[in-house]
Order: sequence, then structure tokens, then C-alpha cells
Amino acid sequence: MRTDPFAGHELWFLTGSQGLYGEETLQQVAEQSRRVAEALDAAGEVPIRVVWKPVLTDAGAIRRAMGEANEDPSCVGVITWMHTFSPAKMWISGLDALRKPLLHLHTQADAALPWATIDMDFMNLNQAAHGDREYGFVLTRLRMPRTTVAGHVANPRVLTRVGSWARAAAAADAVRTLKLARFGDNMRNVAVTEGDKVEAEIRFGVSVNTWGVNDLVEVVESVEDSAVDALVQEYGDLYRFAEDAGPGGEQHEAVRYQARIEAALRRFLEDGGFGAFTTNFEDLGGLRQLPGLAVQRLMADGYGFGGEGDWKTSVLLHTLKVAAHGLPGGTSFMEDYTYHLDTDTPKILGAHMLEVCPTIAGDTPRVEVHPLSIGGREDPARLVFTAAPGEGVVVGWCDLGDRFRWVADEIDVVEPDEPLPNLPVARAVWQPRPDFATATEGWLTAGGPHHTVLSTALGAEELTDLAEVFSTELVLIDAETTRRSLAKELRWSAAYHRLAQGL
Ligand code: MN
Repeated sequence: MRTDPFAGHELWFLTGSQGLYGEETLQQVAEQSRRVAEALDAAGEVPIRVVWKPVLTDAGAIRRAMGEANEDPSCVGVITWMHTFSPAKMWISGLDALRKPLLHLHTQADAALPWATIDMDFMNLNQAAHGDREYGFVLTRLRMPRTTVAGHVANPRVLTRVGSWARAAAAADAVRTLKLARFGDNMRNVAVTEGDKVEAEIRFGVSVNTWGVNDLVEVVESVEDSAVDALVQEYGDLYRFAEDAGPGGEQHEAVRYQARIEAALRRFLEDGGFGAFTTNFEDLGGLRQLPGLAVQRLMADGYGFGGEGDWKTSVLLHTLKVAAHGLPGGTSFMEDYTYHLDTDTPKILGAHMLEVCPTIAGDTPRVEVHPLSIGGREDPARLVFTAAPGEGVVVGWCDLGDRFRWVADEIDVVEPDEPLPNLPVARAVWQPRPDFATATEGWLTAGGPHHTVLSTALGAEELTDLAEVFSTELVLIDAETTRRSLAKELRWSAAYHRLAQGL
């Protein structure tokens, strides 16, 4: 990532109680809730700072706390816990105003009950079991989107779930102010890469706008040789050069031109404050090559990217890059390309014309230069590698006209059956879950796109939290999915979303 996407972010820890308990008890509530907040803050699983706030005991204080959370740009989400009984009508106006992602933590200060000494004082102090039920009712009555996590904070499972939500909250914050630059429009006549950009800005905040590719060409032409030299040096440090692509090689000039595109793209995106972009091979203006290696390197730094003008996949890639920051594994733009069906466990070979992110590479990428069969430009430089095996997900985003839908499939990235010496692009080979037929039939039935994001850093848990925080439909195909269960889910989901629009 260009910078740490979690830097300067805070999650506010708000504790609910009431004045009835008296000062002494409220001090214990404060001490215990501070301890819970500190445990979350110290946990490696939670990548964002957790900030404890004074215990809330009345409607005015709750409203003020929520208002401050809305206004403070460092606050990306709010964690709430009803330590004691906090009559929930006093939460209504505050919650109603809250515009940040919400986690309801259902926990208790101490994990063990002191069976031998327990008395009514203890019972009165430790009553989240019903305090949180009172609060949960009001959240449901208010139709509040939120994530609910139950358990003690010493439990790694609880920390992992809070961490997953924290990542989703940070991703939502990133997309709220994201600017995306499209160089050119969509590939002509393609349907699935189209979509409602106004609706995307209303729902998620992302601003999607088009620039003429020659605006970029101007910057390409102004890049100094020293900037190109520095990048080529970096390529040599990080990757291997194909024999003809390295310094002195016959194709080295093509690599230098691609480095020039990279330097220009970085400058253009940084100057404009863009976190994501798209290109279109049908509209290259004065560019001599389709951006390949340049795009791959920018994706590795956390920029969103979509080919053929696909802004939705570009936004999705940036979103998932933020959510995955610091986790093992990688996250890349991907396209379902071709199949190996001659087996009991068919495989999908994914790739793109050039643009696959090296964060998913299993071997050291090789800088190579080859002709491109479409586009009619000079041979572009690209990084070639095979994705590392591992568990992961592929996620696509489609616009159904009345709503956006994310379609995801749990996958196992595997080694190719044989070497691929003639394939001049980076690729990933995977087996979809639960099996090829169920997964692909389900994907097609759900209207999932051919462009996706492949991630071996994220899984079903993070996607579920992301969909909740973004209030977006997620059709997740996993090991448990059957043809019948998915058909029913799609029908019920369609009915729900129609109804929900009227609410
Ligand atoms: Mn494509």
C-alpha cells in the first residue's frame, strides 16, 4: 500500500449503563469496560486502534458521542457494549443519527463466574446478558445494519471477528472518499462492466470520473529518464528479467517505456488524489503500449484496477486491498479465462491480457515482453508468474439495475497440472467450492461477472462483514452450497431487496 491504510484510524469503544446504579458501581463499570477496550486495542487480530470513551448513562451523552463519531474523520467505526442495563430508548436518537459502521460486542468483563462468592452485587454489576438483549432489540427495531460478536475478549475467535469487522469498517471509510480515474470508457458493447456511477456514489461514496487517455500520455512524455532508470533498477532488484528484456537486451526499450508509463501513472494518480483507475485497450490514444507491468506494480501498492473500463471491479479491488492490508496472501484483479474439464475435479485457469497483481505470485515474477494479439500497439512488458496455492475467494460485483450484488466463491488455488511455457501472462489455477458444476452454475445464475478480485488474504468471514458494512447483497458460494439452496437464496433475496427498497 502507498501508505498504511489503517494509520490514524480509531474505533471508538462506547459502554452503556445508567445513573440508577450509583457512582461506585459506575466507576467499576468504567474500570472494567476500559479493560475490555484495552484488550481489543492490544490484540494483534484487531489492526486499528481501539479508543475507550467515558461510560454513557443518558440520551444526551449518547447523542453527543454519536455526533462526535460522525464528525471525527479518524473514527472509522463504533463498538458498543451494554456492560449493565442501559434502558435502550435512550439510545434511539443517538443510533438514529450514527453514520459510521457499528459493532455490537456482547461480552462480560471476566470470563469465569465466581461460583462460591457470587452475590447480588456481582449479579447487578455483570448483567450484559440481559443489558445487551435490551440494546439488541432496539438495534433491530431501528433496522440498524451492524455486526454482532459474542464472547470474552480473551477468546481468539472473538478477536478475529472484531478484527474482520474493523477491516471492513476501514475499507468502507476508504471507499467513502475514494476517487477513481477512468482512462476512456467501457469496452464497446460489454454489458457487465457498465453500471450506475451515481448510485455507487450515493451508496458507497466513491467518485468515478473519466479522463482522456491523452491526459496521461502528456505525463508519460514528461517523465525524466532518471525516473525510468530508478524504476528499471527496482525491477532488477525485485524480479527476474527474461533474457531479451533485461538491460542490453533486444526488448529492453519496451520495458523502459512501460516504466515510463508507471512513473506517469503514479504521478497522475497521486496528483489527482486517486486510489483506483481503469484502462481500455480500445482507447490508448498516444500510448505506445497497453499498460501492463505498470498496472501490476500499482495494484501491488494497493491501487484499485479494472481492465476495459471496469470501474466496479477497480473499486472492489481497492476495497479488498484495504481490508486485506497486512494479512498473509495476496489480492488481485482476475478474469475467469479457460477451463480444464478433463478430470473429476475441474479447474479454472484465470488470467488477464496482462494485469494480474504480483502479490498473489508463488514464484519470483519474470519481466517479459511479448506481442499482444489485440490492441494493435507495440509489444507490452508484463510480469509473468503463477499464483501461489492456498485457500481464497473470487468476488465479482454486478449492477442488477435495482441494486448492486456481490457474488463470491470460495476457492482453492492449486498448482497447474503441468508447466505453462507458452503462456506469456501471469495466471492462477483454482478449484471452485463446493465443486465446479455447482459453483459455476451458481455464479451464472446469480449473474456474476467475468472480471473478479481473487484474494488469498480474505475469506468468507471478511466478505460477510464487508457486505454488511456496505449494506450490499452478497451471494456467497461455499463448501455448503447446493444447487437447490442457492436457487432458494436468490429468490428470497430478490424478494427481500424489493421489499427493503420500500422501507
Ligand atoms: Mn477483461
